[in-house]
Amino acid sequence: MDWSLRGCARKGHVTYSPDEVELQERLHVTTQAGEAWRCLRCATFVVGEPLGSGPAEDAPTVLRGKALKDATILRLLALERFGRGLLLLALAYGVLSFESARTSIKDTFEHALPAAKPLATLFNYDLDASPTVERLRHVLDSSQHTLTLVAAGLIGYAALQLVEGVGLFLLKRWGEYVAAIGTSAFLPLEVYELTHKVSWLKVVTLVINLVAVVYLVHSKRLFGVRGGHRAFEAERASESLLEVEAAATLATDDSHPPTAGATPAS
Ligand SMILES: [Zn+2]
Repeated sequence: MDWSLRGCARKGHVTYSPDEVELQERLHVTTQAGEAWRCLRCATFVVGEPLGSGPAEDAPTVLRGKALKDATILRLLALERFGRGLLLLALAYGVLSFESARTSIKDTFEHALPAAKPLATLFNYDLDASPTVERLRHVLDSSQHTLTLVAAGLIGYAALQLVEGVGLFLLKRWGEYVAAIGTSAFLPLEVYELTHKVSWLKVVTLVINLVAVVYLVHSKRLFGVRGGHRAFEAERASESLLEVEAAATLATDDSHPPTAGATPAS
């Protein structure tokens, strides 16, 4: 699939007239239909005025190719994280509400769980068969102190999921780190769930999370993997049309041989 073309079909082309004359010439042609500018995402020439103009370094950052595909995957992952965070908040709310009610603590919990069920179904999570929920039910017969701890734990986990969601959705590097660490941290719990009752849905969840961690670390070069942050930025720069063209204008000048990470815009 051509992710760049797909992006342009959805959001429209991104044309830009850089102030640098040499660079401008590389992005601009005059056709019979009028002047045309090269789209920074899909690289086709689009007839009409450029959407923006100014110094090359102020050009919009356009995700294209692999970077665009990665962004789409990360945002899907972010949505899944948001959903999970909300589900956990619902559970925490359940625990907290019997804390205040004191009486029929169990009833409240049984009351809160059906409320969380549609969300759980959406994520293919069978609350009835979950040993974690079973544990929670057990804990409910215990002290107030334990309940507070359980609620605090659930809220903390929910917060982690929501922070992961925000970071991933905004395509922030810290979000990728939080997601990689946070997801790994809870893999043991998922394995624990599997030891009690195996369902293919749980297996799928585990596999998705495993793949997500490997994907994040490998593709985003986290923790210094495959050259780390510098290599990642260099890779992204090599995919930016404007930076490629800027490197090409340098290449035509003998005194400036092109280098791998040539970023004259920065
Ligand atoms: Zn385009």
